[in-house]
Amino acid sequence: MDVRPFWLAGRPATGDGELTVTNSHDGRVVGVCSVPTRDQVEQAVAAADTVRKQAAALPVHVRAEALAHVSRRLAERAEEIARLITEENGKPILWARGEVARAVSTFRFAAEETRRLGGEAMRLDTEPAAAGRLAYVSRVPRGPILAITPFNFPLNLVAHKVAPAVAVGAPVVVKPAPATPLSALLLGEILAETDLPEGMFSVLPVPNERAAALVEDLRLPVVSFTGSGPVGYSIMDSVPRKHVTLELGGNAAAVVLADADLDWAASRVALYSNYQAGQSCIAVQRVIVEESVRDGFLDRLVPAVEALVTGDPADEKTQVGPLVSEAAAERVEQWIAEAVAGGARVLTGGTRDGATVAPTVLTDVPADAKVACEEVFGPVMIVQGVPDADAAFAAVNDSRYGLQAGVFTRSLDVAFRANRELEVGGVVIGDVPSYRADQMPYGGVKESGVGREGVRAAMADYTYEKVMVLTGL
Ligand code: NAD
Repeated sequence: MDVRPFWLAGRPATGDGELTVTNSHDGRVVGVCSVPTRDQVEQAVAAADTVRKQAAALPVHVRAEALAHVSRRLAERAEEIARLITEENGKPILWARGEVARAVSTFRFAAEETRRLGGEAMRLDTEPAAAGRLAYVSRVPRGPILAITPFNFPLNLVAHKVAPAVAVGAPVVVKPAPATPLSALLLGEILAETDLPEGMFSVLPVPNERAAALVEDLRLPVVSFTGSGPVGYSIMDSVPRKHVTLELGGNAAAVVLADADLDWAASRVALYSNYQAGQSCIAVQRVIVEESVRDGFLDRLVPAVEALVTGDPADEKTQVGPLVSEAAAERVEQWIAEAVAGGARVLTGGTRDGATVAPTVLTDVPADAKVACEEVFGPVMIVQGVPDADAAFAAVNDSRYGLQAGVFTRSLDVAFRANRELEVGGVVIGDVPSYRADQMPYGGVKESGVGREGVRAAMADYTYEKVMVLTGL
């Protein structure tokens, strides 16, 4: 099998080691990529630092054209890339195609947003002492970005860091997840077709134990991390002088109130607890239902879950594939067993076959069970009854996490109350918490993270406001 190169300062390179990527459905080796040496990591960082000023001064039309090119090429190669995602991640092709389509949009939004980076004029003569003065406020890149990305969206979450970086004129060094580096490397291939200057991007599949060289290097002043809390917070603690953004996990809740359309709510919750085998930071994990409709909701939910097609991720019909590894599936199985030992009832699922866990619905789960209070990252939901909307909102907030919440209601009044009450980064009315459009601000509160992504929000995050005061006007 050919060893794929990585991207060092915009050029393909090979290092001194190899990383083997396997398919978690059948254990097949699906790709091998080269691993950079310490020297090559140093060269990539030095190149990003060298090109920093040139990148910041890149004309907007050059950035916009490069971003539009990437968007177009992702669209042209969509099927090939979707198949690669399915191979390396185990994600059903249905969802992999959706991920590529989202990455196409992410780059297109960035191409559009870079044209709007105009700065603003601010009158200072609002006070007598500042008569004759005007401020010009512009956004300046903080410097090269270190992008550390997780396995569960191996293309679009890389896109969410690379596209805003190019849009603001910042070099970017990507460290993809070791389980899924191939999509990021393919994105590097497309970036290399553009007119971006050398050094503007590197994609370095370095092992975690060697990532400290990137994290601690002050020539990469911004760390944009998406992944698990323990890793994210340890990175943040290790580099107090850097600007660190953390997009972390959660145990997202869907609230189903008595006025909801129960058919719609049940079908959405069933699908979005289990899509990508639950390996999404906003997959439905906790379902909080008003007691008066609990039975009616469960009567719809359980058959909807059982109707999901589980199996080979390459099969067009598969909705639920394997987890990223058998070890991950074993952990989920143990968490279900722990809940059951504590008194939980399994309404459906609860079994494991290799890396695949059957879509699972649990009730009567003890509050301190891991499936209730930790992030499951598997196809498991817990259903809990509550007397009313206030109790539902309190139950949502009874969590260390706060990424997004979904509220099924037809009442505008309740919708605004939910928006006021819920301690999360995003409230989705009439749908699951798993809804994300790539242009909207996205991120968490509490232990779900710090900072926001979504193209425009990330562009703000990668820049600082600089003010120039004009005197004597
Ligand atoms: P992870 O924390 O294990 O790994 C994330 C990245 O950090 C990977 O690239 C990994 O190689 C790297 N990493 C690990 N140790 C490191 C170290 N010591 N130094 C530097 N880098 C290191 O997470 P994962 O298992 O890949 O992804 C799943 C997690 O990501 C879940 O918790 C999920 O909720 C979260 N996630 C969050 C969002 C979001 O936008 N909030 C989106 C997707 C996934």
